[in-house]
Amino acid sequence: AFNFSAGPATLPESVLRQAQAEMLEWNGAGASIVEMSHRGPEFIAVAAEADADLRRLIGIPDDYAVLFLAGGATTQQALLALNFASPGQTVDYVLTGHWGKTAIKQVSPYVRVNVAASSEANGFHDIPPRDQWQLSHDAAYVHITANETIHGVEFRDTPDVGNVPLFADFSSSIASEPLDVSRYGLIYAGAQKNLGPVGVSVVIVRRDLLERSGQPRADIFDYRSHVARDSMLNTPPTWNWYLAGLVFKWMLAEGGVEEFARRNAAKSALVYGAIDASGGFYRNEVVPAARSRMNIPFFLPDETLTARFVSESKAAGLLALKGHKAVGGIRASLYNALPVEGAQALAGFMRDFQQRNG
Ligand code: PLP
Repeated sequence: AFNFSAGPATLPESVLRQAQAEMLEWNGAGASIVEMSHRGPEFIAVAAEADADLRRLIGIPDDYAVLFLAGGATTQQALLALNFASPGQTVDYVLTGHWGKTAIKQVSPYVRVNVAASSEANGFHDIPPRDQWQLSHDAAYVHITANETIHGVEFRDTPDVGNVPLFADFSSSIASEPLDVSRYGLIYAGAQKNLGPVGVSVVIVRRDLLERSGQPRADIFDYRSHVARDSMLNTPPTWNWYLAGLVFKWMLAEGGVEEFARRNAAKSALVYGAIDASGGFYRNEVVPAARSRMNIPFFLPDETLTARFVSESKAAGLLALKGHKAVGGIRASLYNALPVEGAQALAGFMRDFQQRNG
């Protein structure tokens, strides 16, 4: 079976097998990694290796700190305001889908949000052109959602926002292609799509930004405290961190982000190809230049056909293709761990289903 879940998402089988064995006993230590103290030498080595591997995989410069935190991407969305903007200060958000809305909601109690550009009026089907963004002159940062998991809209270029730090939610596209981290002030991602299991988030932050005073906050909400304690201010999600580390090693061994960029381009071309060749039987409403390589929402002519597509694809071993309830239809998520054969199987199923029902 191929698993097209949007997250928690498919993981490499070799990683799951290794984790299964090490769940019982890690590295001859007489105990599972989940039974060991995060302050012991074994887990500290696992954590340091994950950090080094992620830095190598993504190409994270030394002047950026990397954090592995509990709380998910939504928690990071709220922490952005507390850590980097003073009370009531303006922050700029570019709204291109559901997760941008969540990001705005999380900071609204703390700051003044300027929606610098939005594609909501056209149903979140594109990215507003950069020259139409109404950026504030005094914003603490500019926030974008690099890939909108539900609406299937992806920034294909890093926008230039001048000297204001660019913050980006990369939850559903991190490590899917080469990325110039130095163009960003901060990148955050929940792990449960491309990086590993749910329960840990990665935050990559330019160190000089941590000197900003932000807002009054408990130290558990303070990125500086987490950096000072190597993400071990309190008990970290050790199992999730360890599993993410195995996924980083797998991605490096497979050829790194360049190789995943090739595979992801091939996979998305197969599925968009089946949509575009269907003569309108399948519809994806996103403008081609903003189409996501990771999440492809598409629609069939009616609800009966949609329900039939979901049940027949499942029976054919193509799992979790039902669209998000906010938009309906079908959604195929094609993260790094989904093999090219999965996209081939889906494109073949789509053609066959159309022939039988079109
Ligand atoms: N941002 C994006 C782009 C997402 O896809 C998701 C979840 O799917 C989130 C944020 C929320 O992540 P979490 O559930 O880890 O808080």
